[in-house]
Amino acid sequence: MATIVMEQIGRLFINLQQLRRVPQMLSESLPSKTDTLCDTEVPQFFRERYIYSGYRALHRNWRFYFLSLLQRHNETINVWTHLVGALVVLIKTVQLSETVDFMNDPHSWPLLILLLSSTVYMTFSAVAHLLAGKSELCHYAFFYLDYVGVSLYQYGSAVAHYYYAIEESWHACVRGFFMPIASFLCCLSCFGCCYGKYRNYSLPPWVRKIGQVVPSAVAYSWDTSPVFHRFITWFPSWAKGDSKSSPALLFHFGQVAFFLSSAFFFTQPVPERWFPGHCDFLGQGHQLFHVLLAMCTVCQIHASFLDYLNRRDFYVNFHADGEAAFFFLLFILTFVMSALIALFMLVKVKRLLDYRGKTK
Ligand SMILES: [Zn+2]
Repeated sequence: MATIVMEQIGRLFINLQQLRRVPQMLSESLPSKTDTLCDTEVPQFFRERYIYSGYRALHRNWRFYFLSLLQRHNETINVWTHLVGALVVLIKTVQLSETVDFMNDPHSWPLLILLLSSTVYMTFSAVAHLLAGKSELCHYAFFYLDYVGVSLYQYGSAVAHYYYAIEESWHACVRGFFMPIASFLCCLSCFGCCYGKYRNYSLPPWVRKIGQVVPSAVAYSWDTSPVFHRFITWFPSWAKGDSKSSPALLFHFGQVAFFLSSAFFFTQPVPERWFPGHCDFLGQGHQLFHVLLAMCTVCQIHASFLDYLNRRDFYVNFHADGEAAFFFLLFILTFVMSALIALFMLVKVKRLLDYRGKTK
């Protein structure tokens, strides 16, 4: 018995040793790119705080940026974290389609919207990090695309929570206007993010951040309110020992914990602030934000799937026939509105860049 335990501990120790070598192995496995630049060689606009090297040159052809997917620079991990995330969601979609009849069961459409919007936001994000370095206009255009993806994901979260996770008392309070307000907040946070980036030069960073973070925080609170309300109603009965925790609730806890920790890394440039110049390739706060948000999404999808399976008696009574189809139409409308907002802001950016180009 003692020998077996010692063997297990030995194996665990070896695995931990290997785990410590992962960053080094990752650094070595990608070809080093000789023509990346340091921060002083790129315009101020493209510099990231505490990231001193690994910048790709501007104004190269598209092939250069597409091929940089397989090269080592300071955006490589940002691209791959969300590409892998999108792939995981696609695999999950295929797995779920074996048990869920997405074609013929309208009650499964909110879950389908969540799956679609999750794939879209991670793909748009990966594209933005891959191609935004081409020029200043491309930077705006691709990150505006990223914000459209985020807006869609907010909608996907809202519809899945409202449809499957909601309790009767909260449903009675918000029925009829929950999803229209969620849709409006998606557009508002898309506008806040685009406008914040547009006023990059003229506003102090904290004003810009407020423009980006506050509408998104309001949207998150509203979209996740059915889950928070469910926690609040479940906790007293659980504390008394009258109620067990369901597996879906555990995954909902997981999604909230991952989201809150991802929000921390989105707003704070750590750990690169503590180790300036040492996180240029691996270890940036934004990379951690991507990973944690992808984990939040996976937990959320699984929680919604479990609710879809186990709470059918509740939600078929809450939602009238045709409501799922209406939510699908509203999803498309939210996409169109967010895309128009991004396009409108991009036209303003183009005018600003043209004007600055002429007055130089
Ligand atoms: Zn990102």
